[in-house]
Amino acid sequence: MTEKCLITNMQRFSTNDGPGIRTLVLCVGCNLKCKWCHNPETIPMHNTVFWKSALCVQCGLCIESCPEEAIRPPIPVEEARAEESAYHKIERSKCTDCMKCVEVCDFDALAPVGKMLTVDEVLDEVMRDKLFYKNSGGGLTLGGGEPTMHPKFMLELFQKAKEEGLHICLDTNGTAPWKVYEQTLPFVDFYLVDMKNMDTELHKLGTGAGNEKILENIKKLSEVGAKIIIRVPVMYDYNDTAENFEQMGEFLKGLPNPVHRLDLLPFHNWCQNKYNWMGIYWPLIEEENMDPIECEDFKEILETYGINCTIGG
Ligand code: SF4
Ligand code: SF4
Repeated sequence: MTEKCLITNMQRFSTNDGPGIRTLVLCVGCNLKCKWCHNPETIPMHNTVFWKSALCVQCGLCIESCPEEAIRPPIPVEEARAEESAYHKIERSKCTDCMKCVEVCDFDALAPVGKMLTVDEVLDEVMRDKLFYKNSGGGLTLGGGEPTMHPKFMLELFQKAKEEGLHICLDTNGTAPWKVYEQTLPFVDFYLVDMKNMDTELHKLGTGAGNEKILENIKKLSEVGAKIIIRVPVMYDYNDTAENFEQMGEFLKGLPNPVHRLDLLPFHNWCQNKYNWMGIYWPLIEEENMDPIECEDFKEILETYGINCTIGG
């Protein structure tokens, strides 16, 4: 029997998630809660409904469909769409994400964030761009959410993708038990692993968990000779200090094998629509986008430790 997983997106022609042209497949479910998460819809392990105010005509048709009385009565369209509006169509504390309302909305204002797909269905989609992968050195990247939370699905997908000759990247937060990564070693060409903060207390503050397991897994991956690309989201007043990057450089320099590359990813807030669609207030909404030039000093620090570093990936 082929495994299934709730997939939120299959992004074709991705060029930032491993070498060459790739298809990025995103699974739901994450065990971290990063404050700056750009894919909040992938954090819960279940499907969720998006409500898009820009598409909603406030016809009220969805009200009757909801068994939980979770849908708010219509208000004038302009009022609902106003930038300062606090109106959200769905009372989230009552919503069970049953998706019944999605079926009645003719305006695509209600949509499930994900779709349950089999390994074969995912692979069929990924294989559409096989020619591009071949010419660019690209392939499949599995991310999320946290794909290691679906080990059976992930391993079956990797095994079948390898049989098709695909190059495979696993984009992970680094927190899975080692035995999960160990099982992926025969298939994965590159591990894209996040490092957020070298101070474990600050790591916990930003993500909900300390960094010990992540550092341990990076070390183990390096010991077995896995190819690793480290990704660091750079956040104002969180990890944008010389001290943090010096400690990161020390740690990476001490690994048994050097990492392939480290990508510094300056903060941006382009994901705010998703928070609005889920009816979640995002505290970073007012935060300025970080100019990549602000990461130059950190790049220089990392380079002094012999690390091949890019800004933006
Ligand atoms: S059915 Fe769709 S367009 Fe009509 S009120 Fe509900 S969400 Fe809005
Ligand atoms: S997903 Fe189900 S419970 Fe939630 S608002 Fe729609 S119909 Fe109601």
